[in-house]
Amino acid sequence: MSTREGIVDAIQLLTVRKMAGKPECLEALLSYVEGKISPSEASIYGVTRNQLRGLMQRVREKVGNPFLADIVVKRATPIILRKTPIKINNNGSVPRCLICRKPLIKVLAEDHIIKCHRNLVYILTREVMEEMRRSMGREKMG
Ligand SMILES: [Zn+2]
Repeated sequence: MSTREGIVDAIQLLTVRKMAGKPECLEALLSYVEGKISPSEASIYGVTRNQLRGLMQRVREKVGNPFLADIVVKRATPIILRKTPIKINNNGSVPRCLICRKPLIKVLAEDHIIKCHRNLVYILTREVMEEMRRSMGREKMG
């Protein structure tokens, strides 16, 4: 996998996590990468240390370079937290998909979104990347 493909994959992973109604995972990840919390402090966000470590590890594996992975998280996560819509309602006894209205029984929300709503995942991931590109362009010009 090329670095570029890896970065796109990592951004997609984070986008799907937000769509799945788990923004707290992204908030914890961003704070961790910014050096504001240690993994054991992830509980501040309602996230376990292992969940945070697992997410960080998956981003690093996809990007293939820990330094670059941190940059991707710092740039992409604030955009995803602000823009990417939540598509799973986790408030009921069973999570429900807001796109197709299916209750998600014995299926991980992330897996359902990727399997059944792949086009929307592509569109929303692309939106995040476009916004990253725009903000980087502004920095260069400013
Ligand atoms: Zn659905």
